[in-house]
Amino acid sequence: MPGDRIGGAPDSVVILGAGHAGSQLAVALRDKGFTGGITLVNGEAEAPYQRPPLSKAYMANGQGDALWFLKPESYVAKDIRLVAGPAISVDRADRSVTLADGTSVGYGHLVFATGTRNRPLPGPWADRGVRTLKTLRDATALRAMLDQTRSLAIIGGGFIGLELAAYANRRGIDVDIVERGPRLMARAVSEPISEHFLAQHRAAGIRVHLDTGVASLDRVGRLTRLTLDGDSHVEADLVIAAIGVTAETSLAQAAGLAVEDGILVDEQLRTEDPAISAIGDCARFPSAHADAPLRLESVQNANDHARLVAGRLTGTPATYDALPWFWSDQGADKLQIAGLPGAADRRVRRGTAESGRFTVFSFRDGRLFAAESVNMPADHMVARRLIASGGIVDADALATPENALKTFLQHRQDA
Ligand code: NAP
Repeated sequence: MPGDRIGGAPDSVVILGAGHAGSQLAVALRDKGFTGGITLVNGEAEAPYQRPPLSKAYMANGQGDALWFLKPESYVAKDIRLVAGPAISVDRADRSVTLADGTSVGYGHLVFATGTRNRPLPGPWADRGVRTLKTLRDATALRAMLDQTRSLAIIGGGFIGLELAAYANRRGIDVDIVERGPRLMARAVSEPISEHFLAQHRAAGIRVHLDTGVASLDRVGRLTRLTLDGDSHVEADLVIAAIGVTAETSLAQAAGLAVEDGILVDEQLRTEDPAISAIGDCARFPSAHADAPLRLESVQNANDHARLVAGRLTGTPATYDALPWFWSDQGADKLQIAGLPGAADRRVRRGTAESGRFTVFSFRDGRLFAAESVNMPADHMVARRLIASGGIVDADALATPENALKTFLQHRQDA
């Protein structure tokens, strides 16, 4: 009720955002025996759900219920108070959050798990029917539209753009991808992996336009005409922009917390206010795996952050040092990434692109720091262990397929 105040006991936790990080934190707190109040503020109308399948399995099967973290009745069973948000302000002096309906929720500890929001569409695109994907509602609308679509233009050659492109292509839809950078998924993968996926998507019949921006968009009858830099054109029934995200930090900033494309936290994910933490995609944290504080957009990071903060709030504090890992399903290819494949002194390949099964290992200063596996789940699992234990491994030996991978783990134990 507007004006009501709920919660506020010193041992109560309020979580802003019911995505992967927020929902997993609520559950992890109970799993670790937390007995105080837990309020999970859900910014969406649907029961909290997993986002990664929205551009993959959900497009094919449309099973929204399969995405739920918990059945709605399980929140009651676990004594997790799920409340409808969004939150609109935080009063740090009063230790309370105000929700959109005017309700005030008191907290002993507050956790920002506010995630990201899609980058805004450039002005002229917004009224040309360009669609985006962020929520289950967006995905449901896109599924229905794709049923009526013969030609699709996707702006942005990142994870969402490529996963959607592969799905649409498999359904027989004619697909163009327009990426303004020189290669695909440039933010997240190394050059050899970009090249492999470029070749795969092109071989499947997808037209990929690299180094190309969209100069203008016009409606031509029922089609949208994209004029690309260089004056070539693409026409499509449906246009989807998947041009990346920014951290959702507006509430934290308004509350006076330090923000730099992410809410700044320490190695235990605490903000400068001891009563407030930030986790998941919205948090920027110090990491042994990067030279500067990191903000990661990944499920693994969200889950690990949730467990770490649940541990701290139940009496077992720890420092966050998990190795980042990611995955993407595109057509028949499963890409698994361990570590952050930035600039390398040397990259070696195990297996061949022609076979469709290979791993690119990245070395810096003689140490393995990242591995990107295509349809090689065993390589991925071994690489995670090798990198996490310091990455001391011989690059030439690793690139020799006759050397069984498990022997590298053995050497590591012997070292
Ligand atoms: P993304 O992976 O950051 O890719 C967006 C791409 O669009 C980038 O290459 C970006 O280039 C490009 N771009 C930006 N503005 C453009 C423009 N005006 N014209 C053409 N290209 C443009 O983001 P996303 O694919 O939208 O995904 C959104 C979020 O979902 C991310 O957090 C992503 O990690 C997450 N997600 C992850 C997975 C996965 O891990 N498998 C799957 C789906 C979604 P610049 O980098 O140069 O801006």
